[in-house]
Amino acid sequence: MRCPFCAHDDTQVKDSRPTEDNTAIRRRRQCSSCGARFTTFERIQLREVTVVKSDDAREPFERSKLEQSVTLACRKRGIDREKIDQLVSGVQRQVETSGEAEISSLAIGEMVMEGLRVLDSVAYIRFASVYRSFNEAKDFEEFAGTVRDVAGGDPDNV
Ligand SMILES: [Zn+2]
Repeated sequence: MRCPFCAHDDTQVKDSRPTEDNTAIRRRRQCSSCGARFTTFERIQLREVTVVKSDDAREPFERSKLEQSVTLACRKRGIDREKIDQLVSGVQRQVETSGEAEISSLAIGEMVMEGLRVLDSVAYIRFASVYRSFNEAKDFEEFAGTVRDVAGGDPDNV
């Protein structure tokens, strides 16, 4: 498990015990490089989450598909693979811990956009244009304008 403080790859488990409600194993770890201590939890993957698409079709949630669409939006932007993985993991965690058996592709798209907005304005616009499928060029222009205002991005990069 990689150290969250110095990114060293080797950390040691100092202590391992079940949580109070017995649904997870809590491990105290120590980085062998910088000495930082942190905690990880091991949990059972309890449920399959079903994604409900806009045409009402249903399919099981798959991380790989999510990863694919995010990677596509981020292509040639020089974004760290690790940053993309973090974003995908963050969305996956939100989906899996929502407590719902079904989640709309719309809601997942919003989560991705939330992450991309901070990460890269161009990737954000790319993803949004696919996901929101703007009906008219005017709608897209308006949207892109709001992004530029927020991110201060260069319109020539779009
Ligand atoms: Zn460390």
